[in-house]
Formats: sequence, C-alpha cells, structure tokens
Amino acid sequence: MNSIGTLKTAAICVSGHVLSTDVDKVAHVPDFCDTCGHQIRTACWSCGRPLVGDFYGTTPFAPDPYKRPAFCRYCSAPHPWHVAAISAAHTVIDSTGIPQAEKALLRADLADLATEAPHVASTTRAKDFVERVLTDPVGRQIYLNVLSEATRKLIAGG
Ligand SMILES: [Zn+2]
Ligand SMILES: [Zn+2]
Repeated sequence: MNSIGTLKTAAICVSGHVLSTDVDKVAHVPDFCDTCGHQIRTACWSCGRPLVGDFYGTTPFAPDPYKRPAFCRYCSAPHPWHVAAISAAHTVIDSTGIPQAEKALLRADLADLATEAPHVASTTRAKDFVERVLTDPVGRQIYLNVLSEATRKLIAGG
C-alpha cells in the first residue's frame, strides 16, 4: 500500500478567507474576496507554488477535513494571514504588564509553538502566560490563534 493521494489547490484571500478548497470545482476564481475585499490567490505569495487545498487520501471519494495552511509546504514561508496573526499576537504580548525580557521570550517562542511538536520550555512558558497573565478572553483568543492545534491542546486542554 503506497497511496500518495490527490492534493487539490485552494483559493484563499490575503486575510485568510477560504473561497475554495478545490479550484477545479469552481468555474472562475474571483480576483477579490467578497468578505474583506482583499486579493484572492491560488499560489504562495512567496514561491508561487499552489496553495494547499483538499487532500484525497484515506478515501478517493471524500477529502480529509480541510485545515487552512499557516505555512507554505514548498518554501515554508508563512502565508499573509499567518503573518497578520503573528503580528496581532505580538501586540497582545506587548500590551501586557510583564517584563520586557519575558515579552521577548514569548514572542520568540511563537514560531516553535506553531509546530506540531513544540519544546517543553516554550509550552510551559505559554501555558503560564495564558493562565496567569492573559485573562482577557479576546487577547487569549488572538494568542491561541497562532499556535498549532497540538500546542493549543497542551496549553488550553483542547
Ligand atoms: Zn477575505
Ligand atoms: Zn511558498
């Protein structure tokens, strides 16, 4: 058994609104998003290779559940919506009253926490930050938004 599966191309706007998870199924991809008015692309902003859409892996008839990519799988550049999310998380971290050194650490940790296998040290710091400092639910949501699913489970318990 060596099933590679079929990877489709997605159409996503700069803000991260997913117009289509399989552009083969839409007759025409519009130039601009009707939710936010930003440009819609089907290719990575950095390397020009396709944005990851539906993946037909386990069964050829139904795609695996779609998860909007944060990074390009070909060149590893963060997509614009992830860049914006990171920048928003930086603002949340900077708006807290913790010492500058701690803020710098938490900002630097974000790249590691976006992976599916974050380090124990950064996860511990993030958990402490969320539980002790980040009591505002909006700020907490913005911060948790940039973390990988795996990290979010470790920190927030699901
Ligand atoms: Zn949009
Ligand atoms: Zn790329």
